[in-house]
Amino acid sequence: MGKVAVAFASAAVVAACSVAAVMVRRRVKSRRKWRTVVEILKEFEEGCDAPVGRLRQVVDAMAVEMHAGLASEGGSKLKMLLTYVHDLPNGTEKGTYYALHLGGTYFRILRVHLGGERSYLDVQDVERHPIPSHLMNSTSEVVLFNFLAFSLERFIQKEGNESNSQGVKRELAFTFSFPVKHTCISSGVLIKWTKGFEISEMVGKDIAGCLQGALNRRGLDIHVAALVNDTVGALSLGYYHDPDTVVAVVFGTGSNACYLERTDAIIKCQGLLTTSGSMVVNMEWGNFWSSHLPRTAYDIDLDAESSNPNDMGFEKMIAGLYLGDIVRRVILRMSQESDIFGPSSSVFSQPYVLRTNSVSAMHEDDTPELQEVARILKDLGVSDVPLKVRKLMVKICDVVTRRAGRLAAAGIAGILKKIGRDGGGGITSGRSRGEMQMQRRTVVGVEGGLYMKYTMFREYMEEALVEILGEEVSQYVVVKAMEDGSSIGSALLVASSLQS
Ligand code: ADP
Ligand code: MG
Repeated sequence: MGKVAVAFASAAVVAACSVAAVMVRRRVKSRRKWRTVVEILKEFEEGCDAPVGRLRQVVDAMAVEMHAGLASEGGSKLKMLLTYVHDLPNGTEKGTYYALHLGGTYFRILRVHLGGERSYLDVQDVERHPIPSHLMNSTSEVVLFNFLAFSLERFIQKEGNESNSQGVKRELAFTFSFPVKHTCISSGVLIKWTKGFEISEMVGKDIAGCLQGALNRRGLDIHVAALVNDTVGALSLGYYHDPDTVVAVVFGTGSNACYLERTDAIIKCQGLLTTSGSMVVNMEWGNFWSSHLPRTAYDIDLDAESSNPNDMGFEKMIAGLYLGDIVRRVILRMSQESDIFGPSSSVFSQPYVLRTNSVSAMHEDDTPELQEVARILKDLGVSDVPLKVRKLMVKICDVVTRRAGRLAAAGIAGILKKIGRDGGGGITSGRSRGEMQMQRRTVVGVEGGLYMKYTMFREYMEEALVEILGEEVSQYVVVKAMEDGSSIGSALLVASSLQS
């Protein structure tokens, strides 16, 4: 070989070696980045861990806080609000009633006709619309209430001959899914906004009065006969169908629970007398807090950057508005510390860009190549995400939702413990778990978009409830799903309150 050829050959070898070296370096770098991502995931998974022992601590804390909230005003983060609902609908109600439900994401209007027997419950019309976002943050409540009155007017105009309530004053339930301090069943003032709503003028105002005013301004002959928390509506429907229903929980945009309490246990309201000896208590459990809750740095940041920091800590770990954003925060950190999502990952800096319905769609993607995950990421503007990264996404969704489902179960078990339906005899009886009292059948009514539409959330919740209560006791605890339960049940409550 001549000198030139040798020089040429060695240059080629050097070039090949440096290409190989670059490739090796890239591979090493990419492996190191992947390792970082895996470590972030591992740390997050550990932070969210909720084994049954920890869940039992949450159960105990929930029951203790319930006692404290019933003992004195401000005695706990759980407000344990009186609802003045002591007689739940029993099936004998008759007539046509309406409900207007303001949720966290949707508002609904419906009409029910009751024939005086349980089987004669006819839900005649249901309208559901997203709440326009400008109404959630407007400077005056008048805009919101005028809009609701206008929507009701349109609903009634469409009735035609379908309804038999023409010419008669219409009786309406206002189902309201925010904390209210009631003075009676048909009146109460807003304590605070939650779930991203912020109309500051409204705190302290009578909610039913605001709606009645707007209806009167439009000249509508509609009477706001009851102001009903959405959980109380769900309990009413549950009880109407099955009187063993004593607890109701909502998992939608937000989360809350209510239950039937003995009046003598509501110590902060001594001398409270009801014919039934009990009253429905709206727990406002979204604000529950315990040091036993598995909280991560992502939860802390979500809370700090929310419109209501230091508030609704439990809700922020279990409710639909927030689960998507926890997932987003984990992805954001991963994409900041590696480039697994490529240059378009900046979309993940946008708060609430990832919705919980996308989380459930990704989590429940059963296509072999995770095409649904790819589609959702593409819709967000992130294309060509490799399969292993798509699998990672599914895993993050699983961690967030598993924790949410398990904590939700602990919350329910906490209520069962407080009322002595957990097989242990309540927390004040001094009974040990071994000395089981006669277990009664207990129905827990559940509704809300997260629960109804996210199978994995529901399964994790139900699985954890059995783990906490044990196989034997859980046979007596029935969790019943109730679609539109809060709205239908509120209309039933108007019927029963006007008839009693
Ligand atoms: P609202 O909270 O307004 O009463 P819903 O009870 O219908 O309304 O709950 C709506 C919320 O439920 C949504 O904001 C979302 O967080 C959650 N959700 C709705 N659909 C799904 C879904 N397919 N998967 C997971 N979560 C869902
Ligand atoms: Mg709701």
